[in-house]
Amino acid sequence: MRIGILTSGGDAPGMNATIRAVVRAGLASKDQVFGIYDGYRGLVEGKIQEFNRQGVSEMLNKGGTILGTARLPEFEYESVRRLAIKQLQKHDIDALICLGGDGTYTGALRLHEMGIKTIGVPCTIDNDIASSDFTIGFSTALNTACDAIDRLRDTSSSHQRCSIIEVMGRHCGDLALYSGICCGAEYIITNESGLDKEKLLADLKQNRLAGRKHAIVVISEHITDVYQLAKEVEEYSGYECRATILGYVQRGGAPTPEDRLLAARLGKYAVDLLHEGITGVAVGVRNNKLHNTPIEEALAMKNESNKELSKLVQKIS
Ligand code: ADP
Repeated sequence: MRIGILTSGGDAPGMNATIRAVVRAGLASKDQVFGIYDGYRGLVEGKIQEFNRQGVSEMLNKGGTILGTARLPEFEYESVRRLAIKQLQKHDIDALICLGGDGTYTGALRLHEMGIKTIGVPCTIDNDIASSDFTIGFSTALNTACDAIDRLRDTSSSHQRCSIIEVMGRHCGDLALYSGICCGAEYIITNESGLDKEKLLADLKQNRLAGRKHAIVVISEHITDVYQLAKEVEEYSGYECRATILGYVQRGGAPTPEDRLLAARLGKYAVDLLHEGITGVAVGVRNNKLHNTPIEEALAMKNESNKELSKLVQKIS
């Protein structure tokens, strides 16, 4: 086969490890693998180059994506996708493996509907692709967030402050939930849990009166203005309070062993599925087993809040 691979949307640590796995698994099956640069934009513009074995050396441990990523909102127009298909035909590419999040999956689905064989691989730090228990990049972002929260805890406890830490995860609170548990946060606020500001302020005041010297609040992005929230905490609870937005630092860095392993498994699995003639699917893991789901179904699946973990927070914070 002649397989194309692209990375699209937000970058995630482990994209390179996935590219490597696809290229190596493809070459081992006597396929040719073509790197498409800058996501769907590069596909439309014909930025396509064949990989050889050495082309993916020394990148397993590198963050970001060697293929680059770009956004192309116009990909929602059929006329633009026709240009992409022309490029695939020009390079005789039989199938496309698309690494990214739900936007990337939507692009892959639209191509699939136009007769192109596509497979989606979940690469996003947010863990917001519900068809897989974990996405590639989540473990690394979690490690980064935990490292930052641990550091903030040191200063927060020395100064007897409340620290509000905003982590990424617009549509899925897993990064906040997992990092909050791992770092012993007193409060974890996600889209799923919602923000009950009055209760938070009252609880913090209560904690302060009870002599608890500091408090950690982990909150998902896009819920509230955390700097304003910090002011209100200061005014109401008696704690000095600082807000920190971790931001893009969570996107970078060497992928953790968990992300590298997931990348190796899902990259190879995507190539295997193409050989079996299974396309239009998103790969993932469920209960630690390889799994594939039609992309349309994967996109329709809701990110359920992890009830067991949410309850755990209530019991041990
Ligand atoms: P992510 O894949 O991380 O969710 P985006 O939402 O930015 O990132 O989507 C990445 C790219 O996927 C977009 O720039 C666009 O090219 C393509 N895409 C997103 N939504 C659609 C859509 N509705 N139809 C076709 N292509 C889309």
